[in-house]
Amino acid sequence: MTYDVLIVGAGHGGAQAAIALRAAKFAGSIALLGDEPELPYERPPLSKDYLAGDRPFERILIRPPGFWDERQVAMLAGRRVVSVDPVAHAVMTDDGTMIGYGRLVWATGGAPRRLRCAGGDLAGVHAVRTRADVDRMIAELPAVERVVVIGGGYIGLEAAAVLAKFGKHVTVLEALPRVLARVAGEPLSRFYEAEHRAHGVDVRLEVAVASIAGTDGRASGVVLADGTTISADMVVVGIGIVPAVQPLLDAGAAGGDGVDVDAQCRTSLPDVLAIGDCARHANAFADGARIRLESVQNANDQATVAAKTIAGMPADYHAVPWFWSNQYDLRLQTVGLSIGYDALVVRGQPDTRSFSVVYLRAGRVIALDCVNATKDYVQGRALVVAGAMPDVARLGDAAIPLKEVMA
Ligand SMILES: Cc1cc2nc3c(=O)[nH]c(=O)nc-3n(C[C@H](O)[C@H](O)[C@H](O)COP(=O)(O)OP(=O)(O)OC[C@H]3O[C@@H](n4cnc5c(N)ncnc54)[C@H](O)[C@@H]3O)c2cc1C
Repeated sequence: MTYDVLIVGAGHGGAQAAIALRAAKFAGSIALLGDEPELPYERPPLSKDYLAGDRPFERILIRPPGFWDERQVAMLAGRRVVSVDPVAHAVMTDDGTMIGYGRLVWATGGAPRRLRCAGGDLAGVHAVRTRADVDRMIAELPAVERVVVIGGGYIGLEAAAVLAKFGKHVTVLEALPRVLARVAGEPLSRFYEAEHRAHGVDVRLEVAVASIAGTDGRASGVVLADGTTISADMVVVGIGIVPAVQPLLDAGAAGGDGVDVDAQCRTSLPDVLAIGDCARHANAFADGARIRLESVQNANDQATVAAKTIAGMPADYHAVPWFWSNQYDLRLQTVGLSIGYDALVVRGQPDTRSFSVVYLRAGRVIALDCVNATKDYVQGRALVVAGAMPDVARLGDAAIPLKEVMA
């Protein structure tokens, strides 16, 4: 079995690569191979409305079931690639099948980082990465009263918000001095900490987890480094991902934390491209730093770039980063990357629950976090794209629309 294009990983990036190839009139054979049993589905709802029970699985499918047949994309679900032979242009799957490729698109995302401490693999300890993960949580919820969420990043906080709304007693444990410390400035962190506390969530900062306590093979609590035990019927772990690139690195691809790609999403292996969470690339919005971005925007836009590379219409990746997070009735929209900011400006009053944080580097606007402030998000995008250097006093005046701060 050989395909002109074999896409490994049937998540956001993989699905979009197949869609973009057909949109670019690519007429060769395409297979989309993934280790999950489902057709490609959206991952963001897993910690939001899918966990909340507000959106059934059928409504998070990336395309309706008939789409893939119509576009002649062969779906090879429930199979995992374990090795890549770049000379033979073939991959080996976990069932021992060899599949050949003309071009290989590696779109495998990452595996949730696991707790390494004792008890980290007890029943009742959950990651939030796949539909199966979340279905397991949902099945346990009726018997759960107390939840400990380990990790105050977006996924942990979103899950905490849903579980608090369900009436569970939720504790969030964060190792750093504030939640969202790796991705946002202090005003945003403090705002979300206050919101969660106002919803009854016990947010604890600068705490180290020593182990997970268990009873009869099930998690019963989280033991902290200071000896305190927080009892829990469920533990949710949101401490990041490890990019799933080992087969590519074993095959000789350049990389480390992810696999390295150039502006057209090509790895160092011939005819092998990589996209999405696992692809480390030089990003113009991070001052050219080589980074991995974990967002739907990045997966989709890199997929489109990879499809163009394959279809012989190469275009460099230069998409504006954007992201969102829903917690309670708060919609956060982010544009740009705040990495390396040296100043920030808060527009509006956080206590009105509608405000923005604008990040600057050397006087230029590099990113915005907008909470219930879609106008700022839309108009701020133009400032990020232009690398605008507005007057800081005007920037901080929420009465002046962002589109006018340059005037
Ligand atoms: C709970 C949650 C909430 C999120 N919320 C947001 C949000 O609000 N906004 C946003 O922009 N982003 C969000 N993200 C991030 C976003 O979902 C990811 O950035 C995006 O899914 C990345 O797409 P991808 O194709 O790189 O990887 P994925 O969508 O993870 O797809 C990779 C697929 O490859 C499979 N795979 C891995 N290894 C192999 C192998 N060897 N063989 C075969 N298959 C393999 C994986 O199982 C998976 O199915 C969220 C993620 C999660 C988990």
